Amino acid sequence: MLETHVEVMCPHCGESILLFFELSIEAQSYVEDCAVCCRPMQVSYEVESGEVQNLSVEATD
Ligand SMILES: [Zn+2]
Repeated sequence: MLETHVEVMCPHCGESILLFFELSIEAQSYVEDCAVCCRPMQVSYEVESGEVQNLSVEATD
């Protein structure tokens, strides 16, 4: 399975966290809990040519 990881900054606590993305999925949007502060964030991205594009990480409430 092809996957990659990207370091992003948590919108809640500002800590750097690693997100893992599956490159076989064209576009995805989901909620993930921060590994540091455990608060939820909305993650969305697209995959083009085997690379993650248009990555956005936003706070959810
Ligand atoms: Zn956090």
